[in-house]
Amino acid sequence: MVTVVAEESDAQRVTLGTWPTPLEPAPRLARALGLGDGDLLVKRDDLIGLGGGGNKVRKLEWTCGAARAAGATVLVTTGAPQSNHARLTAAAGARLGLDVVLVLAGTPASSASGNLALDGLFGARVVWAGDTDAQQLAATADEVVERLRKDGAVPSLIPFGGSSVLGARGYALCGQELLAQAPGLSHVVVAAGSGGTMAGLVGALGADRVLGVHVGAVADPAATVAGLVSGLVETPCDPAALRVRTDQVGAGYSTLTEPVMAALTLAGRTEGLVLDPIYTGRAMAGLVAAVEDGDIVPGQRTVFLHTGGMPGLFGHAATIARAEGALG
Ligand SMILES: *Cc1c(COP(=O)(O)O)cnc(C)c1O
Repeated sequence: MVTVVAEESDAQRVTLGTWPTPLEPAPRLARALGLGDGDLLVKRDDLIGLGGGGNKVRKLEWTCGAARAAGATVLVTTGAPQSNHARLTAAAGARLGLDVVLVLAGTPASSASGNLALDGLFGARVVWAGDTDAQQLAATADEVVERLRKDGAVPSLIPFGGSSVLGARGYALCGQELLAQAPGLSHVVVAAGSGGTMAGLVGALGADRVLGVHVGAVADPAATVAGLVSGLVETPCDPAALRVRTDQVGAGYSTLTEPVMAALTLAGRTEGLVLDPIYTGRAMAGLVAAVEDGDIVPGQRTVFLHTGGMPGLFGHAATIARAEGALG
């Protein structure tokens, strides 16, 4: 195990969830995957209570803690229209009594659904940035921050996906939680988006035990994760040492692939487990592929990290149409 560097931010962290989250056996899913009944455990970070749950809460405990310590009155962050991170930033702001401005890529949706509906319920203000790339989205967020400052507010910019070195500390803690709950674990399988979740886990568990499944949210997932890990632990992280599968992206981040649709129905029908088309569905499809190609074999203790995302399922029309079409 690697030592995660302690910092003054430890004292600033705010509590937004109830810890530890459950770790549940999934024997019927394990069998369907070709693993032994006892080999597969699901870490239920989808059950984190705040705002519909999901992995972003662990990162927000640190970034919001730093924002509050700096006297922030308003949280600003960026994302896709169905961003789980944006939704949970909105919920965290509500919980902490801070205003929230979400700078989202795209144009106003004709009807709010999924995460957007919750953004509205949590009282966030949305600034639509139009059809932009990541760089332009960040530039728009900087403009919003400047405007808020001129108006006398104290804005704090929460990074894309909550994935800074500071935010990743939340998943280093999750890694430690897992070591206590599942001693002797061989693999943790996780979706890799902005990278902070995988980075924190690698910080706590080492690179060998964490299998990241790239969802297409960043250009170079291994470099992104390695950069965060290097800030988190005392020794630099070599991107080549990371286990990252890039075979589940399909036609791009927001598109539904056939292996993901198969993973959603498999998890639903064996365990009553809800996955989403962007993140956890890709992670499960990556686990299926990892067992098929022998990267994960029966007898090895394997944790599937359920990172949440259910609101995103209800904001993804193509997946909903397929799910309803499968009704018997
Ligand atoms: C953001 C997200 C991820 C990926 O986490 P990163 O830290 O951005 O890599 C995985 N699952 C869900 C449901 C998410 O919302």
